[in-house]
Amino acid sequence: MLYLDYAANTPVDEAVLATFVELSTQYIANPNASHSLGQAAKLKLDEITQSIANLLGVNASELIYTSGATESNNLAIKGACHYYKRYGKHIITTYLEHSSVSSTATALHNEGYEIEFVDIKPNGQIDLEHLESLLRKDTIMLAISHVDSELGVTQPIEAIKDLMVKQAPHCLLHVDATQAIGKVQVPIEHIDLMTFSGHKFYGLNGCGVLVKKDKVMLEPLLHGGTSTTAFRSGTPTLALIGSLAKALERAEKEREKRFHYVQKLNKQLREGLSNYSAVQINSPEDASPYILNMSLTGIKAREVQEKLAHLETYVATKSACCTLNSPSRPVYAITKDRKKALSTLRVSLSHLTTEEEIQVFLKQFKEIISAVSI
Ligand code: PMP
Repeated sequence: MLYLDYAANTPVDEAVLATFVELSTQYIANPNASHSLGQAAKLKLDEITQSIANLLGVNASELIYTSGATESNNLAIKGACHYYKRYGKHIITTYLEHSSVSSTATALHNEGYEIEFVDIKPNGQIDLEHLESLLRKDTIMLAISHVDSELGVTQPIEAIKDLMVKQAPHCLLHVDATQAIGKVQVPIEHIDLMTFSGHKFYGLNGCGVLVKKDKVMLEPLLHGGTSTTAFRSGTPTLALIGSLAKALERAEKEREKRFHYVQKLNKQLREGLSNYSAVQINSPEDASPYILNMSLTGIKAREVQEKLAHLETYVATKSACCTLNSPSRPVYAITKDRKKALSTLRVSLSHLTTEEEIQVFLKQFKEIISAVSI
């Protein structure tokens, strides 16, 4: 089996799983229970929260736990836009966003908010001049990913924040860092709201984080009792949160080493794919090395994906949360070519991927391409 879809999900790290089992068995009480078992669980939870905060460089009070990045994006965007609607109802986002951001923007549009999309340059980064022209006094949010999930383009967060400060005093910067945390350095100091989930860096599914800077307010989406914060109700998931902390600690410790290694794999993959006239690499050279997106001309990417799966090699056509058979919005945004956007493959890498695996993939790809091109 050759797994090359790490941007969609990663296998859980054994040490992370061990942490989950240990915490689940050691702490059986609800951390919000007032008896001593509950208090012990609360102490442990506070200790874990502090360790996540230290790793991210934020205050412990700035962490909200959720079920994943989808929920975090919904809570950040709806929660803040509902709370700050007295300042305006203008929201800016991009065509590169994950469906949990773009669909949330659509939901707000249906409630009467105005949504505008900032232009994307051919290198995948947003056009800062266009952004400057869009920012207004009544702009309350800019929602953008640090690294997008289909192309792997990294956005210039600091430059974006500088423009916002000058042009739109009430605008909050929401950054979806789901494909960035544990892989690249995230400039958290410039961000008001930031989301991610543990299953993208060898943690378990079902646990996400929303970083909400202390000065920012939100209207909660779920109504219930106070959990670890007043912004998201439900019994705190101590063992899941602890396992996310473990995964984050390991990912951050190894981040640079893993990055350079994956960069080498990415180069090897690009070189191997450069032999085909039917293949156009969409991910810019300076994109995150973990993601490599390509368009296939005259070949159905779905067919290639299926043939690879037949050989037990697993790649994506688009982000796993997208509707099948629709054009890729990020690829269309940079190529302006519907055909290219309709036939995309995304290979996503890991420090667990080996050079031999890349060779195997390239060999299988060659056989499939020559068979389907006839
Ligand atoms: N944002 C991005 C950029 C993603 O890649 C994903 C996962 N594909 C999500 C949000 C949603 O994450 P989750 O699965 O944790 O809801």
